[in-house]
Amino acid sequence: MATKLFIPGPTEVAPEVLAAMSLPMMGHRSKVASELQRRISDNLRRVLLTKNEILLSTSSGTGFMEGAVRSCTAKRAAMFSVGAFGKKWYKIAKMNGVPADFFESEPGEPTTPEMVDAALSTGKYDTVCITHNETSTGIQNPFEEIAEVMKKYPDIVWCADAVSSAAGAKIETDKLGVDVLVTSTQKALALPPGMAICALSQKAYERTAKVENRGCYFDLRDIYDVIQKKDYQYTNTPCVSIMYAMDIQLQRIMQEGVENRFKRHEEMAAFVRAWADEYFGIFSNRKYLSKTLTVIKNTRGISVGDLNKELIKRGMQLGNGYGDFKEKTFRIAHMGELTMDDMRSITENIVDILGL
Ligand SMILES: *Cc1c(COP(=O)(O)O)cnc(C)c1O
Repeated sequence: MATKLFIPGPTEVAPEVLAAMSLPMMGHRSKVASELQRRISDNLRRVLLTKNEILLSTSSGTGFMEGAVRSCTAKRAAMFSVGAFGKKWYKIAKMNGVPADFFESEPGEPTTPEMVDAALSTGKYDTVCITHNETSTGIQNPFEEIAEVMKKYPDIVWCADAVSSAAGAKIETDKLGVDVLVTSTQKALALPPGMAICALSQKAYERTAKVENRGCYFDLRDIYDVIQKKDYQYTNTPCVSIMYAMDIQLQRIMQEGVENRFKRHEEMAAFVRAWADEYFGIFSNRKYLSKTLTVIKNTRGISVGDLNKELIKRGMQLGNGYGDFKEKTFRIAHMGELTMDDMRSITENIVDILGL
């Protein structure tokens, strides 16, 4: 029996989307490849609420986080962290020799507009990287408020990690003014893992010209230039199979309607939060909770590992806490293909297994 995934990635993939992965290969320099790749970009723009160019990479999301840091930082980057994935921004800079500073919030607390303003007002930075949705703590950062601060700094390139929220939570990329919005296939987009996606603004593109060593594989400028010149074909051979799947999945998302999709995620989030309040507790500051997963405080001191073993026998699996939060928290993802019925099912099964 297949296990239904309530973990924050990889997530459930619809059968017809999986089936698309077994279609025969096509030449990635053919006219049909251009058509496929252009259709994918057009539909991704609708999901990410942007007119910016869409770039794809055959890698997981971290590839484009690295690409964003390397390609956009000409001077120095400010890295804001609210958990494990925020730390990754800083690690990427350090390991690439990109000058950067690290700004961390208390566990369960957001990156505040005041923190961003205080850092940027020093004039030291030309790039800022902020997590949109932190998968280790279940925080969605206040991007609307941060966007107000960013308006004071029109020359700074804003990179956002929306790996675990894009296509589930509503992110108004252009209205916010996010310059490089990064996501990947295996979370709220509900595709198999294997490709990274980013929306790149003209401002970010122009910045890349000022950066000498942008790397090779994740050079955002090179990818951008090649898809313009070669009609949406890529610098290297892309994973054609995931592109077939993405094409079908984006059509399914258009059928659902992007606004309906965002609403479905909000409804699932509200349900799981209410359930967590009744039986356990919520880990993070309630004003900033994620739309795509809930991190639940293990107030009863249960064994999350044992609970998951029992759930797996019943054909479902949740996420243990991330890193240091293992056993102290557990995570229920409510993203991608999952529905309200799934939320009722997992919570009822947890209550039944634990005899609550
Ligand atoms: C999963 C995740 C990543 C890493 O993405 P990969 O596709 O595994 O490289 C980065 N940031 C956040 C917030 C994530 O949830």
